[in-house]
Amino acid sequence: MKKNDIVEVEITDCGINGEGIGKLLGFPLFIKDALIGDTIQARITKVKKNYAFARLEKIITPAKERITPPCPVAAPCGGCQIQALSYPAQLTFKEKKVKDVLMRLGKVPVDLLEQVMEPVIGMDEPYRYRNKAQYPFGTDKEGNLIAGFYAGRTHHLVTTDDCLIGAEENKDVLDVILRHARRHHITAYDEETRTGLLRHVLIRKGTHTGEIMVCPVINGKTYPKADSLIEELKKLPGMTCIALSINTQNTNVIMGEEIQTLWGTPYITDKIGDLEFRLSPLSFFQVNSQQTEKLYQKALDYAGLTGNETIWDIYCGIGTITCFLARKAKQVYGIEVIPEAIEDAKENAKLNNIDVIQFYVGKAEDELPKHKEDKKTDIIVVDPPRKGLDEKVLETIIYMEPKKIVYVSCDPATLARDINYLREHGYELKHLTPVDMFPHTVHVETIVSLQR
Ligand code: SAH
Repeated sequence: MKKNDIVEVEITDCGINGEGIGKLLGFPLFIKDALIGDTIQARITKVKKNYAFARLEKIITPAKERITPPCPVAAPCGGCQIQALSYPAQLTFKEKKVKDVLMRLGKVPVDLLEQVMEPVIGMDEPYRYRNKAQYPFGTDKEGNLIAGFYAGRTHHLVTTDDCLIGAEENKDVLDVILRHARRHHITAYDEETRTGLLRHVLIRKGTHTGEIMVCPVINGKTYPKADSLIEELKKLPGMTCIALSINTQNTNVIMGEEIQTLWGTPYITDKIGDLEFRLSPLSFFQVNSQQTEKLYQKALDYAGLTGNETIWDIYCGIGTITCFLARKAKQVYGIEVIPEAIEDAKENAKLNNIDVIQFYVGKAEDELPKHKEDKKTDIIVVDPPRKGLDEKVLETIIYMEPKKIVYVSCDPATLARDINYLREHGYELKHLTPVDMFPHTVHVETIVSLQR
């Protein structure tokens, strides 16, 4: 096999970035935009020792579950890697992905898995679910200011003013900002030359409250003609917070650390279930509020609280799961590394009249060991970032001997690794549910419970 060869191949698997995988005489080929079940013609683009890349040239027989993606820029944008797969097939794919990785990397026996695994929780309406959007700005060939999304992992801008997994209001916000900027000759930031002003705009919408936050991120200290921009923006229904983020650094990090409130409150409020949460521009908040409610309900079910429990909630963010648990527990402790998130978490506990939580700022791997002699712990809840649990955290959990562990994971591979460790150290898998928090992307959230 060599570059530019034309081959015919059936796609039998899907890689971690949503690319199709087919095999030619046992040799794996990675092909972007090809779906499981497609038979395609492809051109080899790069041959490595044990695998190769190819470009989709023609679909010979489409997969049964292939649909025309509703979003016109689904393929170039790359944000939704599997929008061309029907939604039921996406759910089946995610369920299988979790199952496979738990068996392979997690060494969980298949019969145990079949016994504990519940069906994936999908959405009834899998569009318009994101409560947060971050649009980058750029300049087109004619020199006009544009907004859109970066294609795949590049910094090439695919223009779109309406993302179908985001809020409908985003379009109106972008329209106001672009028109104002063009009128006042405000330019997009250019990463190469580090000139220009507008880098991104963060838009958040409270799914249940309808409150809107708009926060442009600029390479400068002030926003030109800010008053007239505010006048326009505040006419939009739901506008609650207009803020400015200053980011003059040469960095891929979107938000700058300095935030100024230009108009309204410095936060918006949203609800999950019957609890209220305040979100400021820098706070982490699950992007899919509807599914988050189902996820947290599972966390509560799995915890099975009676009211007498002492719980640690590690990686607690702004205290969302912590507040849910606290209403049904005796004492809850939260650990989170970002100090501002803990400030929000304390506010959120107050807002919901919860007084049984104590929060600690610090890295889980440093903070939890300080409390390891606290043998009264009944349940430990963890919700780590993609890299999963630090070994120090795992060791400390084992030492603290909680009766139950509830693990919320956004990466099945690290979850599998950690489950393997916990099963080797006296815990058994009791329940497991994949939750589709990110329809049309390859990502899947999983919640599990383990018992000592
Ligand atoms: N449970 C929360 C947040 C989950 S996201 C929710 O559902 O909203 C993971 C959180 O872990 C983030 O808030 C991140 O800031 C925090 N984090 C990342 N690394 C950490 C570490 N080493 N120790 C403690 N917290 C960490």
